[in-house]
Amino acid sequence: MRELSSITEMRSWSRAERSRRHTIGFVPTMGYLHEGHLRLVDRAKELAERVVVSIFVNPLQFGPHEDLARYPRDLPRDRTLAEARGVDCLFVPDAAAMYPEEPVVRLEPGPGAETLEGVVRPGHFAGVLTVVAKLFHIVEPDVAVFGRKDFQQAMLVRRMVRDLDFPLTLDIAPTVRELDGLALSSRNTYLNPDERRSALVLSRALRTLEQTWRGGEADPVKVQRAGLEAMHAPGVIPEYCALVDENVQPVTRVTAHAIGVVAARVGKTRLLDNVVLGEGIGADPRVTP
Ligand code: AMP
Repeated sequence: MRELSSITEMRSWSRAERSRRHTIGFVPTMGYLHEGHLRLVDRAKELAERVVVSIFVNPLQFGPHEDLARYPRDLPRDRTLAEARGVDCLFVPDAAAMYPEEPVVRLEPGPGAETLEGVVRPGHFAGVLTVVAKLFHIVEPDVAVFGRKDFQQAMLVRRMVRDLDFPLTLDIAPTVRELDGLALSSRNTYLNPDERRSALVLSRALRTLEQTWRGGEADPVKVQRAGLEAMHAPGVIPEYCALVDENVQPVTRVTAHAIGVVAARVGKTRLLDNVVLGEGIGADPRVTP
């Protein structure tokens, strides 16, 4: 596995592979890799001949009071996991390489960024799309794989690719969960055992949304209320429980296509999850212990 930290070297590597007629799959991450990230790698390997994983904790997408400084990092461990999974190139730029001067230009993500996470984290998606656009320009992938776990992010990246004609295919892979339903996340490492138990409120709320809709309720206000009630647990502050469409806008009627999205603070940790109601979280892949 190659490991590169310079933008010029990364671009040369990609171009050399392309000149050998190899297609390139790309999985952008913030590191502290888990099985959710690694399934994206598996998917990229199915879709392309060479796979690049980037690890970059992007300061642009963190607010001033968020967890940028304490975000978990362990490059030696990530390196081992990536190599064992068959990653061809690990791209690990530092902030000085990505932002040699104060970045002033940002992508404007549009109305899909004005709901849910966009309300709680102003500027977050402008930071995400800006770094993703930079990474796409550097890696020049044929295929990029994102996780459905970050539903709003995946929808906004998809729209950016379309609106700005990035010459790549976007693949969105299902959320990988623990056996008890908790979605894998690098931030789960912040949870103490009590919080880990309480964190199950997110998947519980998604199941409640699905069951309420399957029980015949199509009024989003009533379905959301049932979901929100399922989010009460010690140490949990629910932030939102909403039903949206693929443009991340509220639905007026609940159907199988509606996406239930939840966010909560569990202790000091913010966790997110989502489900397509017609599919349910039962269909999502689980990790085996
Ligand atoms: P992150 O390192 O958290 O920025 O995530 C990098 C990529 O991995 C994003 O496309 C995420 O949506 C995806 N991802 C994170 N957690 C999961 C999960 N549990 N299942 C599937 N994809 C995930």
